[in-house]
Amino acid sequence: MTDLDLSRAWLVDPSSGREGPGEIVVTDGILEAVTWLDGEDAAGIDATGVVVAPGFIDLHAHHREPGNEDAETIASGLAAAAHGGFTTVCAMPNTTPALDEPGVLAAMHAAAIVSGSPVELLAHGAVTVRREGETLAALGELADAGVVGFTDDGAPVRSPAILRNALAYAGALGLPVVDHPEDANLTEGAEANDGLIATVLGLRGWPVAAEEAAVGRDLAILADVVRDVPGARLHLTHVSTAASLRLIRAAKTMGLPVTCDVTPHHLALTDEWVAGARRWAWEASGDPWSDDVVIAAAYDSAMRVNPPLRCPEDAVACLAALADGTADAIATDHAPHSEVDKAVEFGAAANGISGIETALGLVLSAVDGGQLTLLRGIEALTSGPASIVGTRSRRAGSVGLVEGASADIVIFDRAEAWTVSSEILMSRGKNTPLAGMRLPGRVLLTIAGGRIAYEAPEA
Ligand SMILES: [Zn+2]
Repeated sequence: MTDLDLSRAWLVDPSSGREGPGEIVVTDGILEAVTWLDGEDAAGIDATGVVVAPGFIDLHAHHREPGNEDAETIASGLAAAAHGGFTTVCAMPNTTPALDEPGVLAAMHAAAIVSGSPVELLAHGAVTVRREGETLAALGELADAGVVGFTDDGAPVRSPAILRNALAYAGALGLPVVDHPEDANLTEGAEANDGLIATVLGLRGWPVAAEEAAVGRDLAILADVVRDVPGARLHLTHVSTAASLRLIRAAKTMGLPVTCDVTPHHLALTDEWVAGARRWAWEASGDPWSDDVVIAAAYDSAMRVNPPLRCPEDAVACLAALADGTADAIATDHAPHSEVDKAVEFGAAANGISGIETALGLVLSAVDGGQLTLLRGIEALTSGPASIVGTRSRRAGSVGLVEGASADIVIFDRAEAWTVSSEILMSRGKNTPLAGMRLPGRVLLTIAGGRIAYEAPEA
């Protein structure tokens, strides 16, 4: 168990809505003291240096074990999580075999124990048997085994009738259905966000309507189910368009039990990146092909992701949705792939970004860009996701800088930038659009469950 005495840092505690200069003491793995400083004691400490925050919670990470350990194992996924500042991770069930029965969950937990990582591994169960969309999985058995929600992610719950049943059963069990909103009829063969960039590059368009239509369907079914099952809850993951967010905002205003998350890459990156541009979403204006913006080769398959990187207006809408609370959480959709699945032409490449280690850097870039406050950004990585899956976490009730709780914290230095490279990423998936880029906020130390999960080498 860890001992730590850190004086003169910037503390961020979304659970109390507070940030400011302070000190923490960890003794024998317990967060023994959290002291807020003021007056002379606080002089010279600001939010641009060393920051202490609660360990992050990822609602949506793909570990490829069982079935595709070349891309990621539970051990490498948990190591990558800790390097990214995450101390609790929800694994998605699209493994091979799928997590559609308790035995698969037990094997995942066993692998987590063998890994020795103190990062907490939670998991979502599949909605349907083998994620095939035809027969409802044994949701009750999965709930008894400890899943935190149900999803067929990788794909939407295709059948409206099955979604309806799933919302009702899961609601009765007190768990959310986590849907990947995509109307697959509109995305067959789609390669990149439908718009100018895709047209110029000759890539088949992926319309925003595919997401909006699915969100609309899901909300209509939720509204229907919730009349009979008040506990029904829908969580929409990796929402990426202004149109979808408008529907979700309206649904929340009407009181529907819906929550959603956005990914770091949909906040900060845009479809310009597919054309070789490298500038943040909030900096995009004018000609995406101007010489000082296009600095990399087009068609880099690291940019291929589902949903696709959208236009700048959609990315900025995702940022606005975080700011106003329409989006409840930032989830990474960490999707590691082996090189063979990415080193092919753009349209044939596997979808996904290995993103759990760069999430903080993208969020801090948005903070530096004036798009988000530090407190709200950290809240969306901690209390936000905890409000969706937290009751089944060992940290239930203590996601914050809570004295007397087992220490789950991340310490990072906003003043220290780091360069993204395959060598530095601990994930087996090296598929990142950010290779070679400098990101702010090097993680110095991650403590999970009172034990060191990641410690940076001396700079
Ligand atoms: Zn998905």
